[in-house]
Amino acid sequence: MVRLGFQSTAGFPAARSVRAAFALFLVWNPLVAQDALAEPANCPRPAIVSRAAWSAAPPVGERMRLQVPKSIVIHHTGVESHPHLPLEKKLRDLQLYSQRPGRENGRPKRALGDMPYHFFIGYDGRIGEGRGLEFAGDTRTNYNPSDKIQIAVEGDFTNEQPQAEQLKALQALLCWLRVKYAIADNDVRTHRDLADTSCPGKNLLSTLPGVKRPGQ
Ligand SMILES: [Zn+2]
Repeated sequence: MVRLGFQSTAGFPAARSVRAAFALFLVWNPLVAQDALAEPANCPRPAIVSRAAWSAAPPVGERMRLQVPKSIVIHHTGVESHPHLPLEKKLRDLQLYSQRPGRENGRPKRALGDMPYHFFIGYDGRIGEGRGLEFAGDTRTNYNPSDKIQIAVEGDFTNEQPQAEQLKALQALLCWLRVKYAIADNDVRTHRDLADTSCPGKNLLSTLPGVKRPGQ
């Protein structure tokens, strides 16, 4: 008991200064201040451009698998953003590309039933509705996408910086989804936590300090 008392007395000033430094950091850094894992309290549904609004084609039923959303995975699109194209066109193009067979990086690319993601956050921070949440997402990497909500943020964040509007939209979307599906903060992951990939890129990753690595 004496030893514990001594430790907590000695540790208190240090802990207080760490907290003070962290509080200063939050004030200083507007990206971290929008911590995507802020406690979900008041989380209304953000504005989402529906599939009907972007003229989505129907999903290809036999390629779709049902799921129950239990966790969230964050991605980047991994290609340079297109600031001047409307979100609706990007969604149509991504769906068309996803549903067609072809070649990618010199290898055959199988056709997916729909775009791989459930939500797509464009360069301007508008959110598009991707595949239905009742269907598992899809991936060309080695992990099981079942029971996960897939969110993609437009850009290659290995090189580009995410836009403030994109981070705000991501925060609002995560907040709403976590409350709606009762998802704990340690069930919010990034793609690289689950598969051998650098997705979602270091510049997006650094804005997600609350997203824990497995084992933490
Ligand atoms: Zn990814």
